[in-house]
Amino acid sequence: MKAIFFHNQGDIDVLEYGDFPTPEPGPGQVLVRLKAAALNRLDLWVREGWSGQNLECPHIPGADGAGEISALGSGVNNWSVGDRVVINSNLSCGTCQYCLAGFDNRCLNWGLLGETRHGTYAEYIAVPARNLLTIPDGFSEHTAAAAALVFQTAWHSLIGRGELRAGETVLIVGASGGVNQACIQVAKLSGATVYVIGSHPDKLALAESLGADFLIDRTKESDWPKVVYLMTNKRGVDVVVDNVGTTFPESLKAAGRGGRILTVGNTGHPKVEIDNRYIFAKHLSLIGSTMGTHHDFRTVMELVFSGRLNPILDQTYPLSEAGAAQQRLARGEQMGKITLAID
Ligand code: ZN
Repeated sequence: MKAIFFHNQGDIDVLEYGDFPTPEPGPGQVLVRLKAAALNRLDLWVREGWSGQNLECPHIPGADGAGEISALGSGVNNWSVGDRVVINSNLSCGTCQYCLAGFDNRCLNWGLLGETRHGTYAEYIAVPARNLLTIPDGFSEHTAAAAALVFQTAWHSLIGRGELRAGETVLIVGASGGVNQACIQVAKLSGATVYVIGSHPDKLALAESLGADFLIDRTKESDWPKVVYLMTNKRGVDVVVDNVGTTFPESLKAAGRGGRILTVGNTGHPKVEIDNRYIFAKHLSLIGSTMGTHHDFRTVMELVFSGRLNPILDQTYPLSEAGAAQQRLARGEQMGKITLAID
């Protein structure tokens, strides 16, 4: 099969396009002929590598994908060849204490397509049958792939962990990332009032089009916690979505009494100094999570399929041009999800 892969981690030029052995579906697995893959910032981090990461190479990147079932492994009887499916990239064992309790994204044997296993920048991928969901007729594989990782992550963080309720106020730090754009939509669907801080006029306009109620341009407002404080009648917000990391000191200031700070990552830097006094004096909670559960995935994808949540697509590149696609993501030029067309 054709695939994008790399033999060594590094800059964009380590990516190769060429022939790679087509995987065989094992017991309980299906082989999916991919039609679309969606990019995530994670793909860049895996390609570049991080300290302590032990990646087996050559490696195929990509967590998100959708396509058509082309073969069934033994023991799979609830799917048929030709079914159109979207893939949940979260791999869990199904038997550890966390999986049994429904917290499969805390699995002791957790893995992720494109990170701990070969990913979706390829013509074929073998995945556990339980990681698939049917794509309704007429629904685009690109939109399905673009939704999978970011929407389950946003849903698990805001709803599962953050327990967001109608009428609450949510501040989202950053207007450009796929998770943050999903958070805007999930928060609005939940009946919350949404504030978004961004630094690019185009991306703030996009946030507004997704339903954000109040926009704050941080290039004009250096003291944005104060702006938020004044905009909320000196209350602060109920929930802060901070997936930047380096903005935690400001997020602690922007949160109101009893506020929750939610984080699923750090696009800025993982280490930051925070002032503990904000945490105890304002009764704040810092709540972390990674990805979502299988239940979250099904729930949020049904909302996507029914049009109540709408992934925004940026540009589509042919699989062979995944390097150019990653460059666009690395430069932050995208206005939504970048996808790969796999013909
Ligand atoms: Zn498990």
